[in-house]
Amino acid sequence: MTSPEKPQADRFPNGSDAFPHKHLLGISGLQPWEILYILDQAEEWVALNRSGASKHDDRLAGLTIINAFFENSTRTLLSFEIAGKRLGADVVNMHAAQSSVKKGETLIDTAVTLNAMRADAIVIRHGSSGAVQLISEKVDCPCLNAGDGQHEHPTQALLDALTIQRRKGPIERLTITICGDVLHSRVARSNIFCLKQLGAEVRVAGPPALLPDALDRFGVETFSNFEEALPGSDVVMMLRLQNERMNGDFIPSPREYFHLYGLEEARLALARPDALVMHPGPMNRGVEIASNVADNLDRSAINEQVEMGVAVRMACLDILTRKARRVEGWS
Ligand code: ASP
Repeated sequence: MTSPEKPQADRFPNGSDAFPHKHLLGISGLQPWEILYILDQAEEWVALNRSGASKHDDRLAGLTIINAFFENSTRTLLSFEIAGKRLGADVVNMHAAQSSVKKGETLIDTAVTLNAMRADAIVIRHGSSGAVQLISEKVDCPCLNAGDGQHEHPTQALLDALTIQRRKGPIERLTITICGDVLHSRVARSNIFCLKQLGAEVRVAGPPALLPDALDRFGVETFSNFEEALPGSDVVMMLRLQNERMNGDFIPSPREYFHLYGLEEARLALARPDALVMHPGPMNRGVEIASNVADNLDRSAINEQVEMGVAVRMACLDILTRKARRVEGWS
């Protein structure tokens, strides 16, 4: 694959002088230069976030952002909330457990209600694949997908790409192995799209029952033996077993799973000597990753992923609300 082009302020493919998407529903559908543009913008927010006491920019002052979370979340909800607040927006969180969804309101009625409140952006997490797209069709403002079922989790893939790029340089030169419950993982799907778009060699490993049949269509190499996937890997990304999405037993036992697919020191030693360890969280220590690997700060970028999450979400909120703020151009 050829190197993805960096966007230039005066030269946008398809002649657009604005980011050409109203919503962020997934990585699928984003061009490499659009992904790189978001990452470039996020870099600036990393600098602000690290700048000390005053981490405010306030360019979204006066705007209202609703975080509508129909599924549990720690990192994603908090970081979207922090991102919106650092940009000066009024941020409100709607938790499904306390909302009318529990009383049987349909998704469309909820969407219409959120729309009537004149939000300037809605961030949505939902347990069903496609739910965010459905809501986006019923509201006037931009919608950002914070994870929909097994489908996509675009800001996770963007924050992962930012973390990798900062530690390892251009992604197009890298070999990245993703291991675990790929079948149920929206993180894996979004990462595969993103890393392939940016030119990486992507390997996917896991128990055959947890690897979707269609993986070869995505141009990745699949391995049922994790150890065969590791040699030459610059990055090893571990996934959580998504027990809440499993219908029946997919693995004999967590102990057995760790024995074959857990990332522990001896296994990590099969990858490149400086291979980066990643995990989107929440981690199941001793199931998909050993504690001493997760906590080895020389190798593990897990905390950095969380930090990059705030910067990436600031970039996405800024970019997608430019129309509402009547900001011209991409930058
Ligand atoms: N936090 C990620 C997600 O929402 C990964 C996970 O839950 O395992 O998909």
